[in-house]
Amino acid sequence: MTCTQFDMLMDTQDIPSLSGDMAAHADSCPSCAAQAAAYFAALALYRLPELASSRDLTPRISALLPFLPAPRRLVAMRDWLAAGVLLLISMVLVPLLAEFRLLNASYGNGYTVPMALVLGISVTIYAGIFIVSHQEQLARLLRNTLSAR
Ligand SMILES: [Zn+2]
Repeated sequence: MTCTQFDMLMDTQDIPSLSGDMAAHADSCPSCAAQAAAYFAALALYRLPELASSRDLTPRISALLPFLPAPRRLVAMRDWLAAGVLLLISMVLVPLLAEFRLLNASYGNGYTVPMALVLGISVTIYAGIFIVSHQEQLARLLRNTLSAR
């Protein structure tokens, strides 16, 4: 079972226990085990008699809020990678531009090292932001790749 399958099955859970496959996955995957524990804690709190019998939904919903992950706006990994590839291709193609040859003829090679540094720093910053903003996905991909071997 993958983390995605576990996540989808968690959405259908309404009893505070895991089936055999899910329990086996939770035993080997700390992040899914933590997700299941938080979900079951929220479910137990939700079913407290004073909350369950309340006609007002506000305390029931606010009781669940600490268990919900904060919403995050992420650009999809595929879009990040496509933009990164486009950035790299454009950097590689810069020396082929007519403007580059004109600059080279006017100023010599003196600006190519600073330009290469600026482009290198740009790529490094881009890759750093990508890695930091996609840590969980990358860790999950790495974990799945390593466990498939
Ligand atoms: Zn998992």
